[in-house]
Amino acid sequence: MSEVRRTQVLVVGAGQAGLAAGYYLRRAGLDFAILDAAVTPGGAWQHYWDSLRLFSPVGYSSLPGRPMPHQAGLGAPPGRQAGGEWPDAAHVADYLAEYEKRYELPIHRPVRVLTVENTTDGGLLAHTDDGDWHAEALVSATGTWWRPFIPAVPGRELFAGRQLHTRDYRTAGDFSGRRVVVVGGGNSGAQIAADLTTCAAAVRWVTRRPARFLPDEIDGRTLFELATRRVQADGPRISDLGDIVAVPPVRAARDRALLHDHRMFDALTPTGPRFADGTVWPADAVIWCTGFRPTLAHLAPLGLRTGERGRIDTVGTCATADPRIHLLGYGDWTGPASATLIGVGRTARQAVAEIADRLR
Ligand code: FAD
Repeated sequence: MSEVRRTQVLVVGAGQAGLAAGYYLRRAGLDFAILDAAVTPGGAWQHYWDSLRLFSPVGYSSLPGRPMPHQAGLGAPPGRQAGGEWPDAAHVADYLAEYEKRYELPIHRPVRVLTVENTTDGGLLAHTDDGDWHAEALVSATGTWWRPFIPAVPGRELFAGRQLHTRDYRTAGDFSGRRVVVVGGGNSGAQIAADLTTCAAAVRWVTRRPARFLPDEIDGRTLFELATRRVQADGPRISDLGDIVAVPPVRAARDRALLHDHRMFDALTPTGPRFADGTVWPADAVIWCTGFRPTLAHLAPLGLRTGERGRIDTVGTCATADPRIHLLGYGDWTGPASATLIGVGRTARQAVAEIADRLR
């Protein structure tokens, strides 16, 4: 049996959240290790669709310490002026790869944490596919991309066409000349529906309630400022203003009257969705842009208190039921704007400060 490796703090996941934690753990002088299941750096950014451009400009997309550079040789997306300011996902993956090298973060990959359990000495034992790790505190930063969610819809198994989730979408060209249903009223649904209007024969965008676009002038920069004001309990909730950032491709499709939202269908039939009025819209494919759940199965043996949508109850980033466990980057429930590049730094700093206090 291989020896158990020991560290003070174990970080699970080396996407943007895990790297931000690493940056502050290094500064705090704590002994730590980061385990990442992926073969290559970049977290979820390695897997996004081809046409995706950040909704946050580079100046508002940096992790602590190292500003994100502009993307060289990139033409401006439609409606934007400066080329390279709204980079693509590959640029972010490159930035994260450079970041972890620059700060010499102790990342072990590919190593998947399977389960975490208590030890008799008051510590934590992480079982991985490459041996065991003992730690005094643990930061879970495993993201959501790995746990797609599709709602239970009557007849889903009957549909004869192709069904895929946001996770599996690559390029509109794959749907050239096809009739495609896009389900979901968030950013992914709007962006993929807009992307498809450039190639598909017909797109039907379906949302539970009327689509709510944020005002056109709101991009990632403003969202961060709003989230900051919320931290100071002074300002509107972003969700009060709308659900969808009107990034240029979405705005273009909307303004050309190509992007209409229809209410959710009642069921899927073998040939397509059946709507409340009984009509069936013949379709070749359904793309479920219906979100994700936090990837937290590895913590199940700890029996932490869980809330809705697979979340673990927290105060800030700290698990309510166990002060040794911090959750980073999963969404606003683990800190305002914590699922964004610029926002995760703030919550990482706070989480590491709490961990350092406890371990001292
Ligand atoms: P991830 O990037 O998913 O990283 C988690 C890491 O954990 C992965 O490397 C994975 O391999 C690893 N892992 C998972 N499980 C285990 C395990 N059991 N053991 C070991 N390792 C494990 N944010 C912005 O700031 N600006 C934007 O413009 C922007 N646009 C977006 C557009 C879309 C369509 C989407 C979906 C998101 C966008 N975001 C944006 C948000 C941002 O991309 C994500 O929130 C971010 O990638 C999450 O980072 P993370 O580190 O929390 O998780």
